[in-house]
Amino acid sequence: MKTQILKAPDGKVYEICIENGQWISVNGQAVLPLVPSVPVAMPSLPQMALNAAGAVGRVVAAVVAGEDVFVGPELLALRKEACDSCERRSGTNRCQHARCGCHLAKKQRLATEACPDLKW
Ligand code: SF4
Repeated sequence: MKTQILKAPDGKVYEICIENGQWISVNGQAVLPLVPSVPVAMPSLPQMALNAAGAVGRVVAAVVAGEDVFVGPELLALRKEACDSCERRSGTNRCQHARCGCHLAKKQRLATEACPDLKW
């Protein structure tokens, strides 16, 4: 298995399999493989509103703290690759995870966001 090590703007060190986009470890801790036992479906509208409010709050906190809000092109490409091969990605490019529901094109660009399945 070919892997690549990435250091994200948030200081975390990620190891990703470049063959299938699966995360191997985050800060040296192994990431458990995703077991797709949860049905793939969009979260409810109230849940999506809560999730979106949390994302906005994290962006505001990052701006106030003077931290990077957006990821660089290399990390963005890895995030897109992971989502493109994920069974939770919808045909309209949204994440169908109960803790998400986001537009992936926006979520992937934000340094303050993370995959709810720890794929990035
Ligand atoms: S953000 Fe959603 S679609 Fe992208 S890899 Fe994670 S679970 Fe899959």
